[in-house]
Amino acid sequence: MIIVLRKDASEAQVAAVERRVYESGGQSRRVTGDERTLLVVLGEPRLSREEMLPLPGVLDALRVSKPYKLASIEARPRSPVTVGRTTFGAAAIACIAGPCAVENRRMFLDTAARLASLGVTMIRGGAYKPRSSPYAFQGLGEAGLEILAEARERHGLAVVTEVMAPGKVALVARHADVLQIGARNMQNYDLLKACAEVQRPVLLKRGPAATLDEWLMSAEYLLAGGNNQVLLCERGIRTFETSTRNPLDLNALPALRRLTHLPVLVDPSHGTGARDFVTPMALAAVAAGADGLLVEVHPDPEQALSDGAQSLTFDQFERLLRSVRAVAAVVGRELFLAAPPQPEALQPAPARRLGARSPARTAYSGAPGAGGGE
Ligand code: PEP
Ligand code: MN
Repeated sequence: MIIVLRKDASEAQVAAVERRVYESGGQSRRVTGDERTLLVVLGEPRLSREEMLPLPGVLDALRVSKPYKLASIEARPRSPVTVGRTTFGAAAIACIAGPCAVENRRMFLDTAARLASLGVTMIRGGAYKPRSSPYAFQGLGEAGLEILAEARERHGLAVVTEVMAPGKVALVARHADVLQIGARNMQNYDLLKACAEVQRPVLLKRGPAATLDEWLMSAEYLLAGGNNQVLLCERGIRTFETSTRNPLDLNALPALRRLTHLPVLVDPSHGTGARDFVTPMALAAVAAGADGLLVEVHPDPEQALSDGAQSLTFDQFERLLRSVRAVAAVVGRELFLAAPPQPEALQPAPARRLGARSPARTAYSGAPGAGGGE
């Protein structure tokens, strides 16, 4: 059961409700969210909704049969998450795109410019990379976070980036709009607890060998810790099949719809590992009800420091958006893209003196040293 408390419930009233749960053989956990306080009732207390509703301070009481109480569809029908201009879990399908890793300032800002020109509102890129090999590129760390923040400043894009360690959550949250918890860390409970404490939406990837119930229990850590802005992201699972990197489990979409109110994104890049498969699986995901897509895009995939084989070129990504828009329309949905910035907004100020330095806004496109970090 979840007991929803009134906004104006006094401490004494809440304590009385907690006592009632305890005396009925259950335990309760207080979850203080932005909007209201909930009591998650654990155990099997002999309590009915009818008994709880008249108690002072109680607004509602919901029966939840699943072990994940707050993530369960029984708790609420939908829980859209808004990041800047983008909402996941509402009518439109939204898209996050960008390279696997922030490799240097130049490539990232070029990517940001191109994505913004297509109307994409959210960019991704890892500054901290979980790599199977300790010898592989590990990410630029804090320097990468600064590049991400610069892309946001210049192009108005919301930034999604992975955080791997609890001790880095505060730092990453200062630079990012969305914290990504990667597949390998889906069951890193200390990381989940740390991410629950910051007021940033969390994109929780499915562990490569996690069942839907395990995934939702991880989401429950975030919700129970008071962070109710949770996005799930299906990114393929490990099976006996080796022809693709991680077979993408699209069954998860209709299955999750029955189990949870949380928005579900699909990552057809990690969920296939092969550039040619990304668009077909993105389209399948849209047809199957995804709330959003996460797609790896790189200015020169052949030279990428990670995940080049599954990264789309800018042109391929533009074609993907066109196809997604068409499939979305067939299933009665819409692809959310912002109106691209007006050309005049990107122009240098008109009253520029001859020989004056270009304004910072356009400096990345070829100014000497713009590729710092390369
Ligand atoms: C990524 O998004 O680049 C990534 C490492 O994803 P995953 O955790 O799904 O492997
Ligand atoms: Mn990647």
